[in-house]
Amino acid sequence: MVNREKEEPQFVTDRMLGKLSTWLRILGHDTVYAADIKTTDLEDVESEDRAIVSFAEHKARILLTRDKNLALAARKKGVQCVQIKTDEVMEQLKELLRHHININLEPVPVRCSECNAEIRKVEEGEEEILKEKSYVPVSRIGKQYFWVCDHCGRVYWEGSHWRNMREKLNQLKAVL
Ligand SMILES: [Zn+2]
Repeated sequence: MVNREKEEPQFVTDRMLGKLSTWLRILGHDTVYAADIKTTDLEDVESEDRAIVSFAEHKARILLTRDKNLALAARKKGVQCVQIKTDEVMEQLKELLRHHININLEPVPVRCSECNAEIRKVEEGEEEILKEKSYVPVSRIGKQYFWVCDHCGRVYWEGSHWRNMREKLNQLKAVL
C-alpha cells in the first residue's frame, strides 16, 4: 500500500485545509499551510493565491485546495494540485489516496503538527522542558518517550490522542 521507496510527497495547503494540514504533519508529511506563507499584502486574496501557487511551483510541492479557481491557476502553471471536494478530514485523506498521492497512514513523531518543523526526542536530563509545559502529564515523565519542537516549543507523546488517530486510520485502511 505505502511505497516507502518513493520520496514522500510534500504539500502546501490553502486556508480551508487547516485540519488536513495538521493530520498530514502527524503522518510525517512536510506540509506548509497557506496562512504561514508570507505575502506582501495578506488582506488581498488574489495576491495570497498567487503566492501559494508560486510557492508550490518553486518548492515542487503538491498544492491541496478547496478552491476551484486556485486549482485552475495552479494547473496552468504546471503545479501538481488536488482539488479537495469534501469537508471531513478522513474523507479528505481518502481523496488524496484516490488521486494516487502516496500518503503515509501511520502517525509518526517526526514533525510538529503546529508549525511543521522537525521534532526530536527529549533526552534524559532534559526533563525541565517537559515540566515547563502545563499540558504534559507529570506522571508520564520518565515512563515514556516525549518529543519536542525546538522551533515552537510544543511537546508530543503517544497518549490517547495518538491511539484515537491510529484507530481512525485503521478504519480508513479497512475500507480502502
Ligand atoms: Zn513546532
